[in-house]
Amino acid sequence: MSKVWVAYLKDEENAKDVSKKILALYDAAGFKNVFSKGEFTAVKIHFGERNNIGHIKPEWIKPLLNAVKKTGCKPFLTDTNTLYKGQRQNSVDHLMQAYQHGFSIENTGVPIIIADGLLSKNFSEVEINCRHFKSVKIANDILHSGSMIVLSHMTGHITSGFGAAIKNLAMGAAPRSGKQVQHADMKPKVNIEKCRACGLCIQWCPRNAIEIYDGAARINASECYGCAECISACRFGAIKNSFKGTSKTLQEKMAEYTLGAVKGKEGKVCYFNFLTHITKECDCLDEAQPKISGDIGILASYDPVAIDQASVDLLKEKNGEDILRRLWPENDYDIQIRYAEQIGLGERKYQLNIV
Ligand code: SF4
Ligand code: SF4
Repeated sequence: MSKVWVAYLKDEENAKDVSKKILALYDAAGFKNVFSKGEFTAVKIHFGERNNIGHIKPEWIKPLLNAVKKTGCKPFLTDTNTLYKGQRQNSVDHLMQAYQHGFSIENTGVPIIIADGLLSKNFSEVEINCRHFKSVKIANDILHSGSMIVLSHMTGHITSGFGAAIKNLAMGAAPRSGKQVQHADMKPKVNIEKCRACGLCIQWCPRNAIEIYDGAARINASECYGCAECISACRFGAIKNSFKGTSKTLQEKMAEYTLGAVKGKEGKVCYFNFLTHITKECDCLDEAQPKISGDIGILASYDPVAIDQASVDLLKEKNGEDILRRLWPENDYDIQIRYAEQIGLGERKYQLNIV
């Protein structure tokens, strides 16, 4: 049974108290023993797309990063470039977006390195020999780090129902080509009755695979690579994933990518899940989404499966219902957690310790 530590938060607790609780979790879990003098420590985070307000804040994590630096390792904040059109598609725009959200050296005490390089070509194949992938593509600057801290903001998700530690590493340690192969089975379809020909999906499609024809959007299936950005973009519910079972495949592929991201770092990865400003969709959305729950707290663990299981359990407990299942009835988010356990990433049974 894995241990998960939780520090409960009041709704919208002030930054100073949030950072104190993060440090209390760091101490309670004994995370300082993970890091070795001189090694690089990749601190995986999502800086938040433009207009996003739910992302983890730089002022929350500065004291944690200072504590990590005292062990003698060299932490840096990191993420990889995105498939979809936005502010994080290449390293230059990505870094500018991080600074816009306050992630400067002054505010965090550490530099940022976009782990897959300027145009997402900096990656290596990591052998995993699983059902979907024999090997996965992992960004080199994550792969070459000796240890890792995974800071994940828990949210709902349009294709996986939910995202936290497993999803953060699955997509976040992968270059664009690695993200694309995880999404490859998604095939969106336009309901022409609902389409208003507004063109928003065209603006967001990274493959220019959509055009307006005869008063409605049409998707060129041979160009589409299944990133699902058009589904998120459409405000009229006119685009749906047309292939049943793809959420299952996507979630299993995600777990396999996470396995590749932590391979070789056994005992060298610490996870924090932030159950704060939880939203229906992830921090990739270019908008200030409302919360779907009051804030719950921050969790810490050495086990990505246990921490994700505890996160969904606490969300259910707080709200007296399974909000994620109500919001995304077609996506059984349990799949990613169950399959991650099956392939040896961790275990779903956990012991919760209050800090
Ligand atoms: S049409 Fe395909 S490639 Fe374009 S946004 Fe939609 S899912 Fe992505
Ligand atoms: S965003 Fe929706 S309504 Fe607008 S063109 Fe695309 S499918 Fe049609």
